[in-house]
Amino acid sequence: MRKKIVAGNWKMNKQMEEGLKLTFAIKETNKNFPEELEVVLAPPFIHLYAMEELLKNQPNFFLGAQNCHEEESGAYTGEVSAAMLASVGVDYVIIGHSERRHYFNETDTHVANKLQQAIANDLNPILCVGEHLAIRNDKKHFEYVQQQIENTLFSFTADLMQDLVIAYEPVWAIGTGHNATPEQAQEMHQHIRQILQDQYSKSFANNLTILYGGSCKPSNAPDLFQQPDIDGGLIGGASLSADDFSAIIQSF
Ligand code: PEP
Repeated sequence: MRKKIVAGNWKMNKQMEEGLKLTFAIKETNKNFPEELEVVLAPPFIHLYAMEELLKNQPNFFLGAQNCHEEESGAYTGEVSAAMLASVGVDYVIIGHSERRHYFNETDTHVANKLQQAIANDLNPILCVGEHLAIRNDKKHFEYVQQQIENTLFSFTADLMQDLVIAYEPVWAIGTGHNATPEQAQEMHQHIRQILQDQYSKSFANNLTILYGGSCKPSNAPDLFQQPDIDGGLIGGASLSADDFSAIIQSF
């Protein structure tokens, strides 16, 4: 059975003390998980080390980073490598988030290089893809997401990508309060699974966890998570509240 994941992307929010309190509250509220459900917390880099202490020995909780650099090491002031993340106990790394693509000019080439680093350092990549509103309005969203996947993933063999997770995050839904409908999300998730099946194999595609992201909250998570190809969520705003995030976790 493929993994279900609820991942919280805190973005540039929470001071250390607040982050630790939030982690503790989420941990305390969420016990007795189904075995295949993983909860990933992706705080700012600076909180990772302290949060690792809080999350260790918690079998369903995993630590995520929001980004990594595309090179192994070197003179890249202010950057953090995948190897550094692995060295503090990080399990997952979000790669290609639309905010990185937009504000930091990340291209599919950067994203592919970052994936390479994640794989080389045994981190589970969460690859974000998704179209802008104008592309959807032009009815080019299926082609656009396919192109993003081809550009970033197709140079890797299936055996290198056993730990890959894809997050479908329509840009028009991120932080806007307007989520994709369960039907819109399901048809894109099915499309993504089909692309991976055509390129790799049916078993690869069947085992791939595909998350939905974009204004996911307690009120819409149950309907989204009921869709056959939606295996959980990448949650931004609602991951900053222990009550909301826990309610989303409990939507399964
Ligand atoms: C995100 O940034 O990955 C995200 C899904 O944000 P939000 O839930 O706030 O739309």
